[in-house]
Amino acid sequence: MNKSLETQRMEKIVSLCKRRGFIFQSSEIYGGLNGCWDYGPLGVELKRNLKNYWWRVMVHERENIVGMDGSILMNRAVWKASGHEDTFTDPMVDCRSCKARLRADQVIDKKGIQQCPNCGGKDLTAPRAFNLMFKTFVGATEDESSVTYLRPETAQSIFVQFKNVLEVSRKKLPFGIAQIGKAFRNEINPRNFTFRSREFEQMELEYFCREEEGIKWLDYWLEERLKFYENIGIPRAKLHAHEIPDEERAFYSKGTYDIEYDFPFGRQELEGVAYRTDYDLQQHIKASGKPLDYFDEETKQRFVPHVVEPSAGVDRTVLALICEAYDEDTAPDEKGKLETRVVLRFHPRMAPIKCSVFPLLKNNEQLVAKAKEIAGLLRPHMNVFYDETGGIGRRYRRQDEIGTPFGVTVDFETLGEKDRALQDTVTLRDRDSMKQERVPITELVSILTSRVR
Ligand code: ATP
Repeated sequence: MNKSLETQRMEKIVSLCKRRGFIFQSSEIYGGLNGCWDYGPLGVELKRNLKNYWWRVMVHERENIVGMDGSILMNRAVWKASGHEDTFTDPMVDCRSCKARLRADQVIDKKGIQQCPNCGGKDLTAPRAFNLMFKTFVGATEDESSVTYLRPETAQSIFVQFKNVLEVSRKKLPFGIAQIGKAFRNEINPRNFTFRSREFEQMELEYFCREEEGIKWLDYWLEERLKFYENIGIPRAKLHAHEIPDEERAFYSKGTYDIEYDFPFGRQELEGVAYRTDYDLQQHIKASGKPLDYFDEETKQRFVPHVVEPSAGVDRTVLALICEAYDEDTAPDEKGKLETRVVLRFHPRMAPIKCSVFPLLKNNEQLVAKAKEIAGLLRPHMNVFYDETGGIGRRYRRQDEIGTPFGVTVDFETLGEKDRALQDTVTLRDRDSMKQERVPITELVSILTSRVR
């Protein structure tokens, strides 16, 4: 069977991720652990750039949003009150022929007959609810009284700490609490590389507001979040705001959108933006008996705020960034012959390495010393990579393949050997156009910092 172009593209992406150190299988030397992934030296930089940019535009650049960092293990009562213990489930079906365990929505329906997508078998069990939370025990005794769960979302610690954060930050409505952190779900079928993992990270904002303004803020955050993805290099044409119809929405939500991206394996969710009303705070008020409310100084009214939640996945967005960036074009090799070039066209803001620095030749002490000096000059401002091995064309190719947007080369002109006017200038190469400009070393920091911010 011919593989589709999109399947081939995805295979190339997965193999590049491993080969260049973006993403490895967790516990690989022991055969891996399904649904778990490790980020290598380049992957961790990409992930950090994403999280830092989210934090910058969602927290630092806004006067009414503060952050927090909650624990992964929480009192079991939280998960009872939030509804997760009873209802955070996926319907699961077993195939009696090949023993595959499937999510009910993956079963193939052929003219009303249910079939296993693995083996085509028709002998399937009835759907059963499977709770996605990882159960664990806190303390030395393993009994019912010590049970809790690894958090399946970061949001609940924000709701539970609502009053504390409100008091210390002294914010007025509308205001938000943001958090980035790990979440765990025992997904029935982890798949599509890191897209559906069992351990992943979320970037969540809970934006508290008055009931009358809930829908207004839902629309506002949907638009803000779409802009965010554009600002990290994902074009609007590949993003879709899918409005969840009434019958599919959680019963407490008055409006939910999924922001979806066209992955090579299909259109899939990157983020949910949901108007959750006052459901979560009310649940915790009922269960804890504590007043998680807000006092309005002007009207002297006390009430429970409503909340709009943009909830994004770090790992899914990293995968979208890599899929979007992956490209192949042609470029001349050392001898001028055209060859295929693999290039990750990351937005400079997201690129793991911002600038490479090369001496033209490895065996010229002056070139090497100058290049090392320039790398040192740039390092406090951005992640740079110094490389002196191999021909200059190959060195550029290696950087193109990992998405480094800029390359600085120190040549004999830099040393002032050819033209005095060019002394202390370097070539600055652009990854996408492959054009080179000559710039003074003294201007490098300001030119580059303005382009990668
Ligand atoms: P899906 O329908 O794909 O399982 P969801 O609607 O259950 O996702 P939410 O509960 O809304 O997801 O979680 C918010 C975000 O967290 C998602 O948009 C996604 O980016 C991320 N996320 C959720 N589950 C996973 C997972 N198993 N692996 C990676 N990211 C995830």
